[in-house]
Amino acid sequence: MGYTMKNNNTLKTSVCILGSGPAGITLGNILLQHGIDCIVADRYDRKEIYARARAGVLESTTVSQLDKHGLAETIYRNGYTHDSCEFRYPNHSVVFQYGKLADGDVHYIYPQSDLNDDLIQKYLDNRGKLLLRHEGKDIEQREGGVTVTLADRDNNTDVVIEADLVAGCDGYHGLSRNTIPEDAVDIYEKQHPYGWLAILAYAPPSAHHVIYSLHPEGFGAHMPRNQKISRYYLQVPLHEDLAEWTDERIWATLRKRLHKDGWILNEGEIFDKRVLSMRSYVLEPLRHKRLLMAGDAAHIITPCGGKGLNLAVQDAVVVGETIIEYYRESRDLSFLDRYSDIRLPFIWRAQEFSRSMLHMLHRSADSDPENVRFLNKLSESKLSQLSSSRTFARDFARNYVGIL
Ligand SMILES: Cc1cc2nc3c(=O)[nH]c(=O)nc-3n(C[C@H](O)[C@H](O)[C@H](O)COP(=O)(O)OP(=O)(O)OC[C@H]3O[C@@H](n4cnc5c(N)ncnc54)[C@H](O)[C@@H]3O)c2cc1C
Repeated sequence: MGYTMKNNNTLKTSVCILGSGPAGITLGNILLQHGIDCIVADRYDRKEIYARARAGVLESTTVSQLDKHGLAETIYRNGYTHDSCEFRYPNHSVVFQYGKLADGDVHYIYPQSDLNDDLIQKYLDNRGKLLLRHEGKDIEQREGGVTVTLADRDNNTDVVIEADLVAGCDGYHGLSRNTIPEDAVDIYEKQHPYGWLAILAYAPPSAHHVIYSLHPEGFGAHMPRNQKISRYYLQVPLHEDLAEWTDERIWATLRKRLHKDGWILNEGEIFDKRVLSMRSYVLEPLRHKRLLMAGDAAHIITPCGGKGLNLAVQDAVVVGETIIEYYRESRDLSFLDRYSDIRLPFIWRAQEFSRSMLHMLHRSADSDPENVRFLNKLSESKLSQLSSSRTFARDFARNYVGIL
């Protein structure tokens, strides 16, 4: 059942999971399957969680890790695979067959919102305890356990969860991160000098694969999500005002940056547009006493390279397996350090790849024109190695599909 009731407002469980995004709900499913009682709590309801549409590119590693725990059926059933992408320049284009270079490993294309909702359904079907519209407001670590206080948003009361452990899967803007004393962790942060306009539209994909455009005015991208929805990105100044971007201007800019003779950009209703600033953030270690941090709560990565969702799910799998071992073997808190030891090297490698791809694909945003000329040449040099150096191309392909 996942919990016991102490009184009307106090529940007792082994693991309290804050956040029902990809990290939290993956972890909840894994613990449930292994008979470890847990409660997942999220500040939003199911529809609101679904509406936070974001990613859609899953690495082979992510899918095989989900598969290991019986959580990948709907990806295989409803998603499809990508093994190539296109780098498009104003006068020519290069199709990069990364699947071949990565020994047959591919990306799976399946919207994050669908995957998340499938995992919520699976958790509920297995009688998992899910508290929606319950917002974490306090985490108190004490001798022998942890007390998490949630605000029940419908009934205007507090619910208290007493647990052995708490998993902070509540994203970058959640509660968990802020309950860790500053001197207990190292924080690494970097603001990159680029902004992205991120767009989702009801428009059928205009190509089967992802297109990255390298236009003199800036980067642009086209990404299929499913048969009816496509995602697009446009490089914009760091602090761009969204109000400057009407739908007409977006389509005109996409047509210009993604232009290729004979190619037609399918257009449709834009249902989501936002300006993202390119940031990186890592918190080390990923455990503070009884709190284990996973996904965006522990690290933010630029969307370049499509790593965020993948890291979140992969973190959750390792946290889950570590907690299972903790209960089976030791119940010694220091055993939980294993999670951080395993995940941090992967997280840093993904950070390095994402940053390097970011600089490779963007027109420099430096204020000094001489720097711009120089940095643009470096980016061109790097891109040219994708065609000229098999060693570089293979390394890029393997990192891109996530064989880290
Ligand atoms: C526009 C965009 C495009 C992206 N594209 C890609 C891509 O192509 N590929 C990729 O891999 N990644 C991509 N990402 C990143 C990816 O979406 C995130 O890394 C991923 O959602 C992280 O999952 P998570 O479970 O850690 O956090 P989240 O998805 O943020 O989930 C956290 C959950 O915690 C809940 N919560 C927050 N605070 C509280 C609280 N106090 N109490 C209770 N619940 C709380 C939230 O409601 C939410 O449901 C993209 C991100 C954006 C913004």
